Amino acid sequence: MIWLDLASGVIAMVALAWAIKVRREAQRDLAYLQRRTIQPAEQKDPFSPLFRLLAQALDSGVIVVDHNRVIRFCNPTAAKLFGVSVDEALNHGIITLIRDYHADTMIDHALRRNEPQQMDLKPVLSNKTMRIWCEPSINQGALLIVRDMTQLSQLERARRDLVANVSHELRTPLASISLLIETLQTNPPPELGQRMLGQVTHELEAVMQLVDELHELSQIESGRMILQLQPQPVSEIIERALQRIEPQISKKALHLQTHIAADLPPVYVDTARMGQVLLNLLYNAVKWTDSGGTITLSADRHTRAALASQLITRSDPAPEWVTIAVSDTGAGIPAEALGRIFERFYKVDRARTRGKGGTGLGLAIVKHLVEGHGGVVWATSVAGQGSTFTIALPVVD
Ligand code: ADP
Repeated sequence: MIWLDLASGVIAMVALAWAIKVRREAQRDLAYLQRRTIQPAEQKDPFSPLFRLLAQALDSGVIVVDHNRVIRFCNPTAAKLFGVSVDEALNHGIITLIRDYHADTMIDHALRRNEPQQMDLKPVLSNKTMRIWCEPSINQGALLIVRDMTQLSQLERARRDLVANVSHELRTPLASISLLIETLQTNPPPELGQRMLGQVTHELEAVMQLVDELHELSQIESGRMILQLQPQPVSEIIERALQRIEPQISKKALHLQTHIAADLPPVYVDTARMGQVLLNLLYNAVKWTDSGGTITLSADRHTRAALASQLITRSDPAPEWVTIAVSDTGAGIPAEALGRIFERFYKVDRARTRGKGGTGLGLAIVKHLVEGHGGVVWATSVAGQGSTFTIALPVVD
């Protein structure tokens, strides 16, 4: 009997110990789960009305995360930057919003070390560049400020490209000038010396042209070039440009055709600048057309509807337009390059351009000047058969 009591006592103790162990484990698991689970926001609003007001008004993203990197506050700008609504962002881990492992780690470090951090990120499936600042110690979490830097980084890239292009375009003629001068210092025979001096002059002209065109482009882009727009017929401007290009057309034995409509209405133009635009297009046509080819200059009037496909992006376009088109039967422009020829420094094919000179700035200047007239310029071409550059200018009401 004693043995029986003893045995049941031992069994009861083992059962008790087992129950205690199970309970402890359950408590530990619960505590672990509570730590892992995202806690809903506290009942009491931890953000002052003033903070909320300021954050709503800011055009930068404002996010507050708690010590577990769970979003407790998100202003509409931040939600919009990441393509979600404020409700979708709240009470989720920051990683679900920014979708960037490095940024998440950066915030984690800032929280652990209690140090402000900053980084640029490109969220997946987005072509934006964002800068994110993380300031820890806000309600035991961190304040994140997010700004869309896309435009700024594009400008920065454009600036870098410009510097690279200018130095590249300068290096070639300057290297050649330096080599020629070095050779001239060795007292070459007079005839060779003369030829070399001619080359030096030619290369210097290329440098001067680049500097002039760059200066002109910067004047236009910064809005410092004021166009003197007067209503006048384009026929006179066309006439003058043709007179100036004539010697080069003859020299290359090209044929020139003109089709100028008789009843062209006046358009607002700056005579000097529009003359420069036409001359540039004519000069390109001559440059890219072999001897015996034909250059055609036509001018006509059109309704807005007839030009709809080219004017589509313009708001409030005039009902009537005058077009001036310069066509050639020259090298043409490959389809893939057509969309880029008005970019600064763009040359269709550097090998093809070699020996022909040119800075790649001419058409960029043309585009700016035509747009400064309220007009549009576009190009069509069939590679190997020729190109047509057309300017459309709104008719004076
Ligand atoms: P560039 O000053 O070097 O001539 P442009 O800006 O005037 O530069 O022209 C850009 C590129 O467009 C040129 O390198 C050339 O390849 C191409 N291009 C311009 N006009 C014509 C044309 N009429 N026919 C063929 N290609 C042309």
